[in-house]
Amino acid sequence: MLSLRDLRFTYPNAARAALAGVSFNVNRGEIVGLLGPNGAGKTTLISHLAGMLPMQHGEIRVGNDSLAQARKKRPSCIAIAPQEYAFYPTLTVRENLQCFGAVSSSSNLKPRIERASAFAQLEQFNRQQARTLSGGLKRRLNLAIATLAEPDYILLDEPTVGVDPQSRAFLLDAVRQLAQEGVGIIYTSHYMEEVEALADRVVIIDHGAVLRHGTLDELLSQGHPVLKFLQAGLTEQAVSDILQPFGTMQSPHQLLLRAGSTPSQALNALELAGAQITHAEFGRFNLEQLFMQLTQRSLRD
Ligand code: ATP
Repeated sequence: MLSLRDLRFTYPNAARAALAGVSFNVNRGEIVGLLGPNGAGKTTLISHLAGMLPMQHGEIRVGNDSLAQARKKRPSCIAIAPQEYAFYPTLTVRENLQCFGAVSSSSNLKPRIERASAFAQLEQFNRQQARTLSGGLKRRLNLAIATLAEPDYILLDEPTVGVDPQSRAFLLDAVRQLAQEGVGIIYTSHYMEEVEALADRVVIIDHGAVLRHGTLDELLSQGHPVLKFLQAGLTEQAVSDILQPFGTMQSPHQLLLRAGSTPSQALNALELAGAQITHAEFGRFNLEQLFMQLTQRSLRD
């Protein structure tokens, strides 16, 4: 298990901490979705796991070892597929795989390259210069390079930015396959539906702190149910006054129900006051709604 305990980090001269006490675990074979608005601290966290920032406070353990011990025993235990393209643009696909494969370890180089190339279905592009690949193929090459060292854990930092739906579907399947093979994965993305489709567990961070952590079911069942409706006959103010006892209005057509209130109570109250309900929809938050509620709507940069 990869475990993070109370990670705290402040950049030199920064007014506030980029990480303010982050803790969670990742098991082998598990996909953990890491969500947060711009500036939440995701990259800082990933940089810690990748050993690119000195630890100021807290602990990262890989199994029974500290991160430093684990890296000493097996430098390739954690791999990263960064947001940016991490390959040499003027080398071919094959040359990139050879180059990065040789850096991670000198043993079994050829079979590892074959496996990584097959995994990302790059065989037919072996001779193509990396800079001439399509956006989707570049992302596949980034992912293939991260798998070359056959790591126990992979950090994927927004791996589907700028790809078409076909490439995205391919990449998501590839990530699932890695998890099935026993790799523990931290997956950051701003695409909530991807995280909803992929992640076994989700960690939502903001301002360097964990706001929510759990399985998707756990997270979504914590939110209060939402009643969306359309009505004719009443003013916005009247609707708001009538529904006030049942919860909080999120918009003129959306009520966040208070614990103990039911949708039928709220709709009945509107009808009794003279409203004609033309549409009603009831259910819990999806991940995007939960995320927006937790992190607020204000723009971050
Ligand atoms: P994004 O989604 O935009 O990639 P993020 O969640 O990865 O954001 P970080 O890049 O980790 O967030 O940034 C966390 C905080 O640390 C932000 O307030 C950011 O401005 C600050 N920060 C990041 N890098 C530095 C740096 N090199 N020096 C000073 N402050 C930094």
